[in-house]
Amino acid sequence: LLDLKDIRKSFGEVTILDGVSLSLDRGETLALTGDSGSGKSTLLHIAGALEPFDTGEVLINGKALSGLGDAGRAEIRRDAIGLIFQQFNLIPSLDVAANIAFQARLAGREDKDWTAKLIERLGLSDHLGKYPEELSGGQQQRVAIGRALAGRPPLVLADEPTGNLDEATGDAVMDLLFELTETSGAGLLMVTHSPRLAARAGRRLHLRHGTLTE
Ligand code: ATP
Ligand code: MG
Repeated sequence: LLDLKDIRKSFGEVTILDGVSLSLDRGETLALTGDSGSGKSTLLHIAGALEPFDTGEVLINGKALSGLGDAGRAEIRRDAIGLIFQQFNLIPSLDVAANIAFQARLAGREDKDWTAKLIERLGLSDHLGKYPEELSGGQQQRVAIGRALAGRPPLVLADEPTGNLDEATGDAVMDLLFELTETSGAGLLMVTHSPRLAARAGRRLHLRHGTLTE
């Protein structure tokens, strides 16, 4: 599903990723830990076809990103990837319901029953007509999760998906993420600072000084 091969990435003179390789299959869950600034979000954005890399290769469903132009990468993002951003990145001009449906609609994969279930499980039923600026941080985070999962993408990339949630809500959201991975056979790569959440993943990787250790 996802293969990163010897990825190197620098910002200016600073090397952030110094030969990172990993692979993730459908049905697998992988937790990525590492200190603040170690490059976890950078790695996730490279895996999500959002951020360019210097050398190496990224394969999504066997398709090499380096051979693609902007349109090809956008198509992969739309069809294959659900990305939950650390900073949510909701669309300010759309209400909660439209934000959640956005990517699934673009991809032509809207599923009303699944979306209704997501909304209920994420506790967003009372907020559907609100706009992002009217929501708390935790509510915005739940909308971002709903948007990423609504189209049932094969690859789910989650950057601190429960970082703004209290423990009980965070656990419920993690249950949902794991459930999606199991029921739809998606692969989940999730960044987390919580050792307790990392322990729930099938595999754990740690990023330090630009390299990964299991
Ligand atoms: P956190 O846990 O705080 O979210 P992180 O592990 O996700 O941290 P990244 O956001 O990937 O870390 O950033 C890794 C390093 O790359 C940081 O030192 C950051 O300042 C730098 N960096 C990230 N994006 C850019 C950019 N666009 N231009 C220059 N430097 C950047
Ligand atoms: Mg980050």
